[in-house]
Amino acid sequence: MKRIYMDHAATTPVAPEVLKAMMPFFGRKYGNASSIHSFGQEARDALDNSREILSRFINAEFEELIFTSGGTESDNIAIIGAALAGKEKNHIITSRIEHHAVLHTCKFLEKYGFKVTYLAVDRYGFVKPEDVEKAITKNTVLVSIMHANNEIGTIEPVREIGRICRDAGVLFHTDAVQSFGKIPLNVKKMNIDMLSASAHKIYGPKGAGLLYIRNGVAIKPLMHGGGHEFGMRSGTENIPGIVGFAKAAELAGRNMDKWREHETRLRKMLARGVLEIPDSWLNGHPEKRIPGNASFCFRFIEGESLVVHLSMIGVAASTGSACSSKDLRPSHVLTAIGLKPFDAHGSLRLTLGKDNTKEDVDFVIKELPGIVSKLRKISPMGRK
Ligand SMILES: *Cc1c(COP(=O)(O)O)cnc(C)c1O
Repeated sequence: MKRIYMDHAATTPVAPEVLKAMMPFFGRKYGNASSIHSFGQEARDALDNSREILSRFINAEFEELIFTSGGTESDNIAIIGAALAGKEKNHIITSRIEHHAVLHTCKFLEKYGFKVTYLAVDRYGFVKPEDVEKAITKNTVLVSIMHANNEIGTIEPVREIGRICRDAGVLFHTDAVQSFGKIPLNVKKMNIDMLSASAHKIYGPKGAGLLYIRNGVAIKPLMHGGGHEFGMRSGTENIPGIVGFAKAAELAGRNMDKWREHETRLRKMLARGVLEIPDSWLNGHPEKRIPGNASFCFRFIEGESLVVHLSMIGVAASTGSACSSKDLRPSHVLTAIGLKPFDAHGSLRLTLGKDNTKEDVDFVIKELPGIVSKLRKISPMGRK
């Protein structure tokens, strides 16, 4: 059976060029970047070169970028690090549709006396910049609003929010894991103080991420030890992962327009076909979204069973977000955009990538209506 991967928001395949770039660093180039000898220097050169490439990619300076184990760790360092550095300030602002790496970190801080405002979003998932402005108090230490949502693809007005934070003297962090490599990012123009990104969402390896920390922003490190990464993240660097991350960013930069056009075209085709199914709709904004993201709802059925049935015919999709699909509560993102739990249960996320084809999309458009009507016939959720 041919398998079709349409879950690129969860993770992506490692690009062959990325794998090739990483291989020597799993083998003969095994040095520790902190060592003085030639083995160490080889690793140090690779580390410096990768940092150079990735910092240029978002218009940051070399020393403004630290490597981490991924998006989750970057979010944790940014939020907890800022909270700990905030002295008497104890208020954080975020949104209701953030990734759990942000939301659960904020919940954790609430247990230690921090106050968190979870901003509401509109029906497309947009955070209103005015709401951020209104929520800022003299106790606010940090605002964390994602650049693009992993579930519904909505792209937030980060530049405006950054402007408001800068003017108010409040730190602004953005989780850009879903946008990094897909749409242009410029930390200076966008008024960003801290930014998280992850390699495995852009055809790089799992277990490598970065956190941009603007020069002059003093947050506290969470990892203590040898003082790696400018003292912000101790621990011997994951050189193969970092080299792979830089290669993935190079590819994404070189192909950004091409891949964006390709994925946008396929996603529109997919949406047009899928929305022929009665009682279905697209979640998020029709235009202001990540190119490959298509998030649907089908009334009267469970997203879980849709995903299982698609998997049986070789199509990899998801419902809610990968992290929450194990429990039965409807997605916090879909309820935040105003869906009733009953409707939010029937969600299906298809996220396209550079290697998906028109044939892949045609296959899903052909097969999905039958699966939906079959499930509706046996559904306990109302319509027969
Ligand atoms: C995947 C994802 C993360 C987590 O990144 P990891 O590298 O898997 O830890 C965080 N935020 C968003 C928006 C994501 O999509």
